[in-house]
Parts: sequence; C-alpha cells; structure tokens
Amino acid sequence: MPAPEGHCWLCNRYGKLTREHIPPESAFNDCPLLLMKVDERSSKTGLLEWTSSQDFQRGLYFRSLCQGCNNRYGSKYGGAYVDLVRRIAERIGDIRECHRTSILGIKRPLAILKQVMLQFVTANGPNFVRTNEWVAPFIRNRLNTAIPRDIAIYVFASNARTSRNSGVSAHIDTKGTHVVSEFTFWPLGTVISFQGELTDDRLTPIHQWAQYPFDFSGLVDLHLCVNPINTAYPVDFRTESQVKSGATSQEEPSTGLFREEDLRDMTEKAAKISGEEEKESWIYSGHPSTFRRIPGKR
Ligand SMILES: [Zn+2]
Repeated sequence: MPAPEGHCWLCNRYGKLTREHIPPESAFNDCPLLLMKVDERSSKTGLLEWTSSQDFQRGLYFRSLCQGCNNRYGSKYGGAYVDLVRRIAERIGDIRECHRTSILGIKRPLAILKQVMLQFVTANGPNFVRTNEWVAPFIRNRLNTAIPRDIAIYVFASNARTSRNSGVSAHIDTKGTHVVSEFTFWPLGTVISFQGELTDDRLTPIHQWAQYPFDFSGLVDLHLCVNPINTAYPVDFRTESQVKSGATSQEEPSTGLFREEDLRDMTEKAAKISGEEEKESWIYSGHPSTFRRIPGKR
C-alpha cells in the first residue's frame, strides 16, 4: 500500500507521510501491539469503555512526519533517548510501584528533551505544532533552547506494560485546574504542563535541561518515581487497588473552589493548545462532582 499523503505535522510540507515510531523502535517499540482507544460512547454512559482496531501493528507509530523530518530528527535526538530508556529498563524490574530509582551519569540531556518534544508532536495530533509556536523551532534547530515560561516538562518511570497517550487534556485536582499532555511507553512516562509547574513529587522536571548546550560533554543525574498506570487519564497514578476501590487519588475539591468561569477557561485553553477547537471527544479528568459542573462539557 503506498504511503498516504498529507501535511507533515512538524514542517507542514505536503508529501508522503512516513511511519514515525514513538518512542524509537530501539526503545522497545518493535513488538506487535493491539491499539485500543476510549469509546466515544463513554461520555454518554459515564463508564470508560474501550474499542480496539482488531489489527495488530508492529510497534507504536503514526503517519505523522515527512521522510525528511522522520530521518533528520530521529537520528539527532533518538540515540540519547534510547540510551536513557535502556538504562531505566535494566533496573526497573527490581523496583516496586511508588518507589524511586536514580539513573546517574546521563549523557546529552538537551537531545533527550528534544526527543521528548518530538514524540509529543506525533502524540498530540496534526494541529499541535501550529498552535504551539515554540515547538517547531525548538525541535528543528538543535541549538534552540527557548521554552516558554508557562511550559513544564516532566518524566517518571513506569512498570506498566501498556502505553498511555492522553493528547492535550484538561485535568482538575485539589490544587487547581491544569492543561496537560501525557505520553507514556514502558519504561518511561513523559508529561507536559501548559500552565506552569505541577506540584507533584512523583514527576521529575526536565525542562531545565534546556540550559545545557546541545554538545554538553558532562553528565546529569535523574531521580525517578515508579508510578502506577491503571487508567486512561493523564497524570493519574492511583494503584490498582485504589482504582478498584473507587478511591480517587485526590480528595474531592470543595464545591466552592472552582467557579464555572475557571472551568470554562480550562476547557477553552485545552481546546486552543491542542488546535482542535472543533473536537468534541475531550478527555477531562477530575472528581465526578466537579466534572459534572463543567459547563456543557463543550
Ligand atoms: Zn516534515
């Protein structure tokens, strides 16, 4: 079957779209996968239901990038990312959920950060680069280190054998409303916050790696929490027993905490950042009583 044509999600040139593997194939992304997505009916029934494509594909990939972008940036940034992932993989089997591990002496931190963003280009859909103007220059120029002040980027370790790809999503907890995006694939999870720092010590910030020169010859250390993944919701790190018992990871936000306009702002911001204002199948997560108050849920 010939490759489909379209606009490259990164450079916007029209042409053949190639298979962009996220993460790179050599980061354990070369096995048969059954892709599942949240059923559209879930928002009506209130229960999270899944549908599968019925077809296995070899590795997680999307037809997102032109050949030029696929080859160029994968070879520049992918190697440093794969080295990190392999080091986490070597030891994660021995570490229990919610415990921590340290990976010392990591090479090329800025290349890893750029690979994380390259993966979000594909994970967040065809309009993400258009609506987040800093992303393309950051990836396309290896020397560019300009990340806006309200962007925060995090990593964590994961022992879950499933991947989680939220897209740009709105999320509510006791600390406020957040617009986040998570892409997780064993053994590393990655998160972007679009509204400043998240105060969750299970997430390790890496946006400060933009301070290192691209050809930095020194080493950095990374301290990671092994976070459970048992739902489709971004930054939901409840254990299996907490999910089963219906416990929420946070207490119910007091009903006076969020005004309707805060919730409306949050949903509008999420739609704008994703570039998919017309999309109706949003992921919102939060306590059900707050969730019900989101105006019209768009
Ligand atoms: Zn391209």
